[in-house]
Amino acid sequence: MTHQDASDARAGVEDAAGFAGVADGFQRLWTPHRMAYIGGENKPPDDAAGPGCPFCRIPALPDDEGLVVARGAAAFVVLNLYPYNSGHLLVCPYRHVADYTELDQDEVAEVAELTRTAMRVLRAVSGPHGFNLGMNQGAVAGAGIAAHLHQHVVPRWDGDANFLPVVARSRALPELLADTRARLAAAWPGPDGSPAPRDVTTKG
Ligand SMILES: [Zn+2]
Repeated sequence: MTHQDASDARAGVEDAAGFAGVADGFQRLWTPHRMAYIGGENKPPDDAAGPGCPFCRIPALPDDEGLVVARGAAAFVVLNLYPYNSGHLLVCPYRHVADYTELDQDEVAEVAELTRTAMRVLRAVSGPHGFNLGMNQGAVAGAGIAAHLHQHVVPRWDGDANFLPVVARSRALPELLADTRARLAAAWPGPDGSPAPRDVTTKG
């Protein structure tokens, strides 16, 4: 095979030597979700309820499109589009309410119950070693969408806090959101009170 034949066989395959810039020894970790975040995609234009608010809009979408994992009567569970870890869930009331003190008793109870179920399902599906739970109240406290309350359920594993968030403001996520959603939704207990998935942290 001549040199020319070899070039022809690679037709359509670009040679990195021809690219702009200088090749180096670093591997690239692509985090396109960060670009959506940086670009402000899904960021509400204001604090109003309705189509400008993702947590008002999501419940009207099919589960797979909205990344909805479970739906209750007063609140629902959705994957965070910008997760800190794989399986980072948000528990949101359907009602467009900003402050925890504004929730009614049914909403308080269901947000709490869905949070507990989310922990059980995440333990059964992916065996985290711990969780961060909480609500950021107000933009000053770190709430990205401050106008519509959401409780974070972040599964944690030993060693998951590596250098990337510090030096690169990036997270390495080993699983695609659609796959995570499908696995969690499949493991979520049914509305008929069928048993929650076995808690893998509980032996026997
Ligand atoms: Zn809303």
